[in-house]
Amino acid sequence: MNASADIQYDYIIVGAGSAGGTLAARLTEDGRSRVLLLEAGKANHKYSKYPISFGLLINSPEANWLYQSDPEPGTANREIPVPRGKVLGGSSSINGLVWVRGQPLDYDTWAQMGNRGWSWQDVAPLFTRMENYEKGGKNGRGTSGPLRVSEVPDQNPLYDALFKAAVAAGYKLNPDYNSEDQEGIVKTQASIFKGKRMSVAHCYIEPAMKRPNLTVITEAHINKVLLDGKRCVGVEYERGGQVHKARAGRDVVVCAGGVASPQILELSGIGNPEILKKHGVAVTHALPAVGENFRDHLNARIVWRVKVPAVSYNHMARGIGAVGQALKYLTSGGGFFSLPSAPVLAFLRTRPELASPDVQMHLVPYSIKDPKQRKLQDFPSMTVACYQLRPESLGSIHIRSSDPRAQPAIRFNFLGDPIDQRTIVDGFRMMRKIVEAAPMDTYRGDEYSPGKEVETDDQILGWIRNNSQTAYHPIGTCRMGPGPNCVVDDRLKVHGLEGLRVADASIFPTMPSGNTNAPSIMVGEKAADILKAA
Ligand SMILES: Cc1cc2nc3c(=O)[nH]c(=O)nc-3n(C[C@H](O)[C@H](O)[C@H](O)COP(=O)(O)OP(=O)(O)OC[C@H]3O[C@@H](n4cnc5c(N)ncnc54)[C@H](O)[C@@H]3O)c2cc1C
Repeated sequence: MNASADIQYDYIIVGAGSAGGTLAARLTEDGRSRVLLLEAGKANHKYSKYPISFGLLINSPEANWLYQSDPEPGTANREIPVPRGKVLGGSSSINGLVWVRGQPLDYDTWAQMGNRGWSWQDVAPLFTRMENYEKGGKNGRGTSGPLRVSEVPDQNPLYDALFKAAVAAGYKLNPDYNSEDQEGIVKTQASIFKGKRMSVAHCYIEPAMKRPNLTVITEAHINKVLLDGKRCVGVEYERGGQVHKARAGRDVVVCAGGVASPQILELSGIGNPEILKKHGVAVTHALPAVGENFRDHLNARIVWRVKVPAVSYNHMARGIGAVGQALKYLTSGGGFFSLPSAPVLAFLRTRPELASPDVQMHLVPYSIKDPKQRKLQDFPSMTVACYQLRPESLGSIHIRSSDPRAQPAIRFNFLGDPIDQRTIVDGFRMMRKIVEAAPMDTYRGDEYSPGKEVETDDQILGWIRNNSQTAYHPIGTCRMGPGPNCVVDDRLKVHGLEGLRVADASIFPTMPSGNTNAPSIMVGEKAADILKAA
């Protein structure tokens, strides 16, 4: 498809993920702009609409970039898998479907860092506008947005016992963690409606594709953006073995996500001159902040055996049980196949003097044998996982080659900061405190992994170093803010260049307190407002 070489678009959006897809849909609403949306992945994956696809697509090259980190010093030199969506809808089409906005404090911090228009007061209406929450209409929760959000319908006495155990351990229940008060334990709100995944592809892109002013080209791998002096004028992409160029009269907006956006900038000669020269890329614009400020959530898990098999999906979703669960899903939209990655969440403070929660916990009513294979464990069990909400450790993502198809070097630097070490150990102890509380006595069996012999702070930290994984939330690598350690300004313009912006999770200056899909969609909504007003 070479037609795009001859067409002058107003905007070219690189990457049809949570942010890019949202931006494309909003920008074409009023019919005033011609927009080209380019995506490396395919138009869809046959399983994506089913929530269970989270477990299937996490290892599937058909819809996933399957990146891998460099050996991580903080996690026993392990190379950590980094899945990212490679399909229309991006990571929203393969993610765990947990719906979290974050805390007002997160966005007020962004504003405090010099970003005008990004305080909670500014962004809260965008969160309201994007969602259609089944229990919405109060606390600023939306009822008429394109993306449907529902509380997990699955019923399980294990969930009720855990709520009671959390209260017995001194924590509170919270009917809506997406209100301004995040703290407490409650059923998960999920981007699921009537048993189907509510991806950005389904909710934003597909309805917008009917518009004549939106062109969507899938299986188009962007090699680089094209600069004329200090102005971005278009992109170069490869599709079906042929190289194409497309031109933008106004802006190119890079929305390739926390891993690929800094990579695309560097392949275009925008970045740290030393890194670019090392890999034979001509420097077009020196901007050393590109690829720095990388943060992610490190997820530590504890697995318990469960004494009542009927509450664990290890038991209920095996053999003939799986058939029963499939029937339940098809008839009522519930059961194992309808679950997001976790049906119960808790946002808690590790120390009472903190202003707001600093850890997030997930209850999963089953356990898996090996995170790579995602096979269910043989015995009835449950998993409780925990991550620190706002990690301080900073890593980096940079090109390791001038080849646009080569994976970048991903260095998390997990647990590099002592605060992160302290918080994850405290969170780990809190998981035990809750699950060991009396209301769980009926269900809780022995701690299977790591086991009670892992007891001292050093032992817990050592075990976490050897066994934790990413929670799949890479952010910050094209950080927004004024000053030399930032990549874009608060209008999302790349510092020092015209016609080039970045809008996705890579622009987050700090980690929002929770999962990152809703905040990424918020960035897409905000970018549309910014471009319409420009
Ligand atoms: C396995 C997994 C589970 C997750 N679970 C949850 C969850 O339960 N809840 C939650 O809130 N968040 C979750 N997340 C995180 C959340 O989905 C992401 O933070 C969010 O989708 C990021 O949005 P984005 O727009 O920044 O990037 P993405 O949605 O990843 O979009 C980037 C797009 O750019 C495309 N692209 C990249 N490079 C190129 C190129 N060179 N040329 C063309 N296109 C390119 C990609 O294919 C992709 O479509 C999960 C993520 C993963 C991977």
